[in-house]
Amino acid sequence: MSKIQMKTPIVEMDGDEMTRIMWAMIKDTLLTPFIDLKTEYYDLGLKNRESTADQVTYDSAEAAKRLGVAVKCATITANAQRVQEYQLSKVWPSPNATIRAVLDGTVFRRPIIVKGVSPYIPTWKKPITIARHAYGDIYKSVETKVPAGSKAELVVTAPDGTQSRQTVFDFKGDGIALGMHNTEASISSFARSCFNYALDQGEDLWFGTKDTISKTYDHRFKDIFAEIFEKEYKDRFEKAGIEYFYTLIDDAVARVVRSEGGFIWACKNYDGDVMSDMVATVFGSLSMMTSVLASPSGAFEYEAAHGTVTRHYYRYLEGGTPVANPVATIFAWSGALRKRGELDDIPELVDFANRLEKASLDVIADGQMTKDLYLLSSIPNKQAVDTETYLRAIAARL
Ligand code: NAP
Ligand code: MG
Repeated sequence: MSKIQMKTPIVEMDGDEMTRIMWAMIKDTLLTPFIDLKTEYYDLGLKNRESTADQVTYDSAEAAKRLGVAVKCATITANAQRVQEYQLSKVWPSPNATIRAVLDGTVFRRPIIVKGVSPYIPTWKKPITIARHAYGDIYKSVETKVPAGSKAELVVTAPDGTQSRQTVFDFKGDGIALGMHNTEASISSFARSCFNYALDQGEDLWFGTKDTISKTYDHRFKDIFAEIFEKEYKDRFEKAGIEYFYTLIDDAVARVVRSEGGFIWACKNYDGDVMSDMVATVFGSLSMMTSVLASPSGAFEYEAAHGTVTRHYYRYLEGGTPVANPVATIFAWSGALRKRGELDDIPELVDFANRLEKASLDVIADGQMTKDLYLLSSIPNKQAVDTETYLRAIAARL
């Protein structure tokens, strides 16, 4: 059998712990036997971030911008405990935050649906993808306690020094106040990333805010989305047979619950934070959630939504057999390979990505799955297998 040939390399961002082990297993068992895999490799493992003073993260993000398609393994986000464990010279920033800042992208979290693991909401038949705006609002706010008798004001000083002033509240008793902001540039990038991703997936895009109450702030989000859609995307959406749909956030929530899924739900920062946990929980499992970072310029970075599965890694270091679920990481690879195949016009690569996903889910539907899914699955003939057995079963189908 001749291997599938690639043209442009995929940016490969290796990572940490259990997912790093699974990364190599997936490549050896499912990818390199079938594809003449071309990647530009960056080691984002914490050790190498330390020895390059995190330069490797920036380089990998620039490569993603240049080549357009990246796949990332889960990485440790450093904290005080990791500084000790890895003898770090610094608490390096989260690689995901660095990459997101370089690409100016939006993260789309997408559940993987498999037979036997039913969503808690029975009408949800297709994935609901959440797009969370990742800048501003309460996440970049200033807040304060206000003592009784004080007046809180909103003051804006223009470049020429003139000021506009509004009273937030005259406090008779003790209280609290908060000031938050967003920027037109960030909201516009968010909108473009959402429209691009909807076109890429061929799915409708929903967006909701509280514009009836927040007549300037939330309303500006609504207007920017509408303006960009009319000017840049309306025709392309019509051609693709998909819709952009705006509604009040309350109505969006009600419609989402009653829906059968199969759309992208764009959310402001706070709504996305809260609703993505709700949607992920309804679909059942963190290990069956992928995540795509889409930039307004059209670059894509694929990864699993879960972390490095640390508890499993420590057990593995003590000699345990790997039993973590590789599905989300496989789907990160298939997403990147499919995208590369589409961009470079390699139908065999697109076809391989589709078959890889189908084989991964068919093995589970036929009863072989890792323990996390075994605990959730309603399939009668289910059997819990280790990571390697599961991967070999997929390879046999491929
Ligand atoms: P985690 O790695 O997602 O794991 C939390 C728990 O969820 C695991 O202990 C495991 O439960 C279960 N789980 C998650 N993925 C699984 C899989 N593929 N197969 C089986 N079980 C799975 O989250 P964490 O333990 O909070 O974080 C670990 C490290 O990952 C941290 O250093 C964090 O900074 C990093 N992190 C990275 C990313 C990223 O790179 N995108 C995202 C989140 C966290 P059981 O132990 O009960 O089996
Ligand atoms: Mg949250």
